[in-house]
Amino acid sequence: MKLSTFSAIVIALCLAQGIPVKGGQMTQKKSGSAPTGIAKSVFGKTKEGITVELYTLTNSKGITAKIMTYGATVTELIVPDRNGKAGDVILGFANLDQYLAAQPYFGAIVGRVGNRIAKGRFQLNGVEYKLATNNGPNHLHGGLKGFDKVVWEAKPVASSEGPSIEFSYLSADGEEGYPGNLSCKVVYTLTEANELKIDYTATTDKPTPINLTNHAYFNLAGPGSGDILGHEMMLVAGRYTPVDDTLIPTGEIASVVGTPMDFTKPAKIGARIDKVKGGYDHNYVLDSGGSQTPVPAARVREAKTGRVMEVLTTQPGVQFYTGNFLDGTITGIGGVYKKQYGFCLETQHFPDSANHPNFPSAILKPGQTYRQTTIYKFFTE
Ligand code: BGC
Repeated sequence: MKLSTFSAIVIALCLAQGIPVKGGQMTQKKSGSAPTGIAKSVFGKTKEGITVELYTLTNSKGITAKIMTYGATVTELIVPDRNGKAGDVILGFANLDQYLAAQPYFGAIVGRVGNRIAKGRFQLNGVEYKLATNNGPNHLHGGLKGFDKVVWEAKPVASSEGPSIEFSYLSADGEEGYPGNLSCKVVYTLTEANELKIDYTATTDKPTPINLTNHAYFNLAGPGSGDILGHEMMLVAGRYTPVDDTLIPTGEIASVVGTPMDFTKPAKIGARIDKVKGGYDHNYVLDSGGSQTPVPAARVREAKTGRVMEVLTTQPGVQFYTGNFLDGTITGIGGVYKKQYGFCLETQHFPDSANHPNFPSAILKPGQTYRQTTIYKFFTE
């Protein structure tokens, strides 16, 4: 795209928001030297010819988040290290074609139901629903064409906290086998407190399961810096949901005490990973039990760069996944992505909730509003 077209779009966006325009960038607040605000560009086109836009959110503290309309995906998250040197902290690709090819949900919003549903089946109000089985015998992350593979509508929204973009998607009744027209909104805000805040809301016209989350793979040392086993992590979770060989919860809610699952005190991710079959890929039961406003769920620290990430959420669970299925066949920003080169902390309802009455319900009914808020907060030590 020509620079003049790009600038025109940016300026139009600014004017729509009542935000002053500076040098082709939107300027929300002037502090420090970095231009803050939102810029928009074209990232590419889908196979169907739909234009995919990329929004760049920048705060005055040197954090930049790039988010595209395909999958409402975070493609880059650039955060200063302890010396003030900015660098990406997630695994991603430099172009749309690589996102369109087979890849494991890098940075995307997953849904309608993130995580697994056993054998792709559940019953709701006496009706059995059959979904695609796209992960061995099970349904994973919304099916064959989940929310990570659709183009969302996007628009900047006013926020006192920092640059903010709202992504919306209407998932039609019957899409991927799920009941009800589900209207979803995901708002990303890059706050001046160095947080990437994600607010999810949804409404439906028929009861439906729902479980939305973001599937970013983090590497706080940068996507080209090897595995994440040396990162130190703490989870505010004394329990987890054990799984069978196909990663479906057995239904038990077990204590982590005395097991390699225990991250109630900070520990290196790699310290006991060889005692966990296949690596970590488990739902932790957060001590909060879920909350109205986000509360601390996890803290991860990377010693070399000094970067620390805290995760706060309203959700009752978090999937801790250590990128065990990355196998070196994908190359992205930073090089080849090998096993355990990134970790995910997917805040969520428990996997296969629809088939476990003892798990918190993940059913949304007409007249209700689904809400989840998750914050990824960054600082250095
Ligand atoms: C799951 C993994 C899966 C990955 C997709 C994670 O949320 O827990 O088992 O392989 O998503 O690549």
